[in-house]
Order: sequence, then structure tokens, then C-alpha cells
Amino acid sequence: MNTSFFQQKFSEYYAKHRDSINVPEARSREYGAGVNGKIDFRHVSFPSNDALRDFLIQDAPLYASYSAARYERPAAKPMPNKGFVSADLVFDLDKTYAEEHPEKHGAAFCPHCLERARQDAARFYDEFLLKDYGFGKSDVAINFSGSKGYHFHIRTPAVQQLSSAARKELCDYAGALEVSPEKLVTKQAGALVGPSAASSGWSKKVFNYAQQFALTADTQAWRAMGAGSRTAKHAAQNNAELASRLERGDWSWKNLEKSFTALATEAIRKTRVELDAPVTFDLSRLIRIPNTLHGDSCLTAKVLQSLDAFAPDKDAVAFRGAIEVTPNKTLALEFGGTTFELEDGKTKELPLAAGLLLLRKGYAVLVGL
Ligand SMILES: [Zn+2]
Repeated sequence: MNTSFFQQKFSEYYAKHRDSINVPEARSREYGAGVNGKIDFRHVSFPSNDALRDFLIQDAPLYASYSAARYERPAAKPMPNKGFVSADLVFDLDKTYAEEHPEKHGAAFCPHCLERARQDAARFYDEFLLKDYGFGKSDVAINFSGSKGYHFHIRTPAVQQLSSAARKELCDYAGALEVSPEKLVTKQAGALVGPSAASSGWSKKVFNYAQQFALTADTQAWRAMGAGSRTAKHAAQNNAELASRLERGDWSWKNLEKSFTALATEAIRKTRVELDAPVTFDLSRLIRIPNTLHGDSCLTAKVLQSLDAFAPDKDAVAFRGAIEVTPNKTLALEFGGTTFELEDGKTKELPLAAGLLLLRKGYAVLVGL
């Protein structure tokens, strides 16, 4: 693909939004950048944010990353020669959700996947970062990844010397790798004892889910959890009593043993958050520089004050205007609240952001090329 057209656009963007690029302690970071790939080269350093901004404007890479780690000699190589000083704690949510909505999944761009990613990111932020890990709101910087998900950067002194193993544990915890229904609900003296209102950590999460389910489930919902028809009806009719028992950690309800296991399994599955763990525990990894452009989408890896109601195809759009492109596939593109019906070989005018995205993803060519 001819990249100079895009690099020209990126350069103009960086010139116009120069001050939006602001890496904390910029001079101690390692940088990597790419035009053909995400990282064509790395082991580069800049003496200041100003020098980094100049580089983005002049060289206009399509992808720009930096190290969560700080080094004494960030440009030195191999890695051990850099002189590790400390590292921010970063998390990356990068999951795809196509299997949840195959009928409306967009191949070139999918607002439905992005909305699911936003929901999971918000859940990770509230349930894990704030509640379980105990970070304050001001400790956590959030940005859209520019592609499929979200990045969290924690730059407080307390996390700087965390080992790689400790960072991995945080990911494993969010992913519920060590959690199982059998460990949470156990038989004690003939009774089933499980998570209660007084529980903490994963036990509390499963309790919250089960409690909510018990309060609202009808006969059909209990049937779906594997309960027999009479048991399901009984549980649904006595939901307040059932919920109050769960509150005390009493999971002994006649004939519901298997349903409770199914319920705990579902609670774990729906509450866990899948992170791209190597981004967190591999201290030599580079991660996208917040507020830079992502070369796959031409969207901004935008720094966010809040995850509420953020829609990348509206709020992370970097380029305004219109462009004519010729699709090389027949497809529907949902972007910015509009669905564009594209026909193979039929030139169409699109919003510039949507057109650039199609071009970069190989679904269209520029008119005249
Ligand atoms: Zn999708």
C-alpha cells in the first residue's frame, strides 16, 4: 500500500494537535514506531516531548509506541543495557466479540464489538482497578487503544517496582484463572456453604451475581440453570427467602445443587475480564502512545476522562471532511451512527474518517489510483 498519502495526513494531524502528545517523563522512555508494521524499529529515545512531537510531525509513522518502563539509557540495546529504573502498570483489553453478534458484526469496523469492549473496560475499571486493587480514580489514566479496546496506565509510585510475576497475578485475578465453582460452593456437614454478603474478592462477585439472579429469576430462568420444573417453580415463587439464605452463605436449597453450580459458573464467566496479559507482565513491551493515531483505523488512541458513552467512531475521529473511495468488496459499513452500503467497484463518497479506515484495512482503494 502506498503509505505516503496517509503519512501526509498523519503529519498534518500531529502538527495541528502537537500539544496533545504528552508522555510523562518522556526522556526516560524507549520508543518504537512503524509505517509498514506496528513496530518497524525500536530502541529509540527522545530528550523531551517536544522532540517526540517533532518526530511525529516529520517522520509521520502510522504507529507509535513507548515503554511503560523508564530506563537510564532508553536507546541502549539489548534490553539489559538500558538500565531499568521503574515501570508503570498497564492493562490492555483487546478482545473481539464477533461471536456474540455474528448477524450484525462488521468486518471492516464494528461499533457493536467496540461497545462491548467499552462495557468490559468500564467493568474492569470499577470492579477491579478501583474496588479490588484499590486504586484511586486519579491514579488511573484511560485511553482508547485506537483499534479494538482500551488501555489503562497507572503511574503511581506504589506500582513502579512491582515484579513481572506480581503484574501477571493481577491479570490472572481479573481473568478468574484460579476461581472455580467447586472452590466457592462447598459441602460442610451436609450443607452447601457458598459466597455470602460478607464475602470479599471473587466470592463477593459471585454472591452479588447469584443474589441478583435469585431475586429476579422466574421459573424459566431456573429451568435454564438446569432445575427441574417443580424445583424451578418453587425457587421462583420463594425468591426473597432464597436470596436471604444466600445472603447468609446458605446455598442449601432442595434440588438446586446443580443449578447453583451452573449459576456460579455463569457468574464467573460474566464477571471475569480477559486482558492481554503479556502487555502487563512483559516489562520490555511497548504500548501505543496515548493520543497518537492508530494506523489500522486512522482513529486517535484518545485519552479519556470517563468511559461513559464513549463511541470511537464519533469521539476518536481524527479527520473531518469527505473522501471518494472505490470499495473492492460489497459490504455494509456502520460508522458514526450511519450504515453505508458499499458495492464492489462502485465509487462512493464517505466521511473522511470512514474512508481512511476502509483504505487502511484494504476494503477500498483511493479514486484515481
Ligand atoms: Zn462485532
